[in-house]
Amino acid sequence: MWYTVRMKHERAYRYRFYPIPEQDAILSRTFGCTRFVYNWALKLRTDAWYDRQERVNYEATSAALTALKKEEATHWLNEVSSVPLQQALRHLDRAFRNFFEGRAKYPVFKKKRNRQAATYASSAFTWDGATRSLKLAKMDEPLNIVWSRPMPKDARPSTVTVTRDAAGRYFVSILIEEAIRPKPVTPKMVGLDLGIHDTVTLSTGEKVGNERFFHKDEKKLAHAQRDLARKQPSSKNRTKQRRKVAKIHATIADRRNDFLHKLTTRLIHENQVICVESLAVKNLLRNHSLAKAIADVGWGELIRQLAYKAARYGRTVVAIDRFYPSSKRCHVCGHILESLSLDVREWECPTCHTVHDRDVNAALNILAAGLAVLACGEGVRPGRSTIVQAAPSEAGRSGERSPESPAF
Ligand SMILES: [Zn+2]
Repeated sequence: MWYTVRMKHERAYRYRFYPIPEQDAILSRTFGCTRFVYNWALKLRTDAWYDRQERVNYEATSAALTALKKEEATHWLNEVSSVPLQQALRHLDRAFRNFFEGRAKYPVFKKKRNRQAATYASSAFTWDGATRSLKLAKMDEPLNIVWSRPMPKDARPSTVTVTRDAAGRYFVSILIEEAIRPKPVTPKMVGLDLGIHDTVTLSTGEKVGNERFFHKDEKKLAHAQRDLARKQPSSKNRTKQRRKVAKIHATIADRRNDFLHKLTTRLIHENQVICVESLAVKNLLRNHSLAKAIADVGWGELIRQLAYKAARYGRTVVAIDRFYPSSKRCHVCGHILESLSLDVREWECPTCHTVHDRDVNAALNILAAGLAVLACGEGVRPGRSTIVQAAPSEAGRSGERSPESPAF
């Protein structure tokens, strides 16, 4: 399965912050050193494999880093906190583990113009919950954070990750331990059809509209990208223009995320059980005319949010195999059509003559299939459905890492 719910009580709180010039300088240097160490260790591990078929582990890279910092040519690595550098080695180690276990591609070098990140373990920052003051290693002043949502007063952050996105915006992600808070049990259950023309159709008949986020800013983005292509390579203007493109991307992503969060929070709040089709994206992406619309809607993100929010609040999400004929089956009598092309929005069942809205019918079938899976357990359709997180009684033991977490 392409998403997982981690059994941890950790949750990340992410905020924007505005560094003063000194902090900006320290962070830029730290990003540079972190990136350098990551790339250096990646090369070290890659070379060892190619030259000697040898696997270099985290401990070995850590020892090599200690030696590297003593060398004249790379002595500048000592100018920044050593903690983010160690964390870079850990991140690389995790990237390799993901690669060896088939979850990810081979790690790639980090580039200066992409998103930058530095992770501080608890030894490298001080946190004062009473005044909400967060100070990072090598800095005199606390960060100027915009507290856009509340963080629990008694929170004890375990890790702090600072990022700067391609648009030049700074964010801090604070990881804390948090108890799961199951919501009161409700008898409501819902099926979702994740479509193209409507982002989500609920089995209740409600349609939550596709706001066509990407489409809206598409022209603006295309224009900016055309301008970028015309700029002289490695000129100042090109850098400026790249920033501009990144800003438009960031705006689109923000708006989409905001929409998805509101929707998934509402669905989790209102329903005990939520049934969806599992990832259809891969298959549908083969059809290029649909590719953009699907990427636009962000199904993967929607299901991922449902999964972790379900874990947080003691709800159940059932993901059903996509090859279940949810669109083609009449939910009233069970008749299955031989074919139903994508542009048919309404159809009449040849057997019972019910007139169906394509998406509502699909959502009702998805709900029924999900409940069947839930009632009989996974054994009903081995390997074809996944039940993600469960009853409130288990909630105390489970948890998740939020989207902001550096682990993602
Ligand atoms: Zn029928």
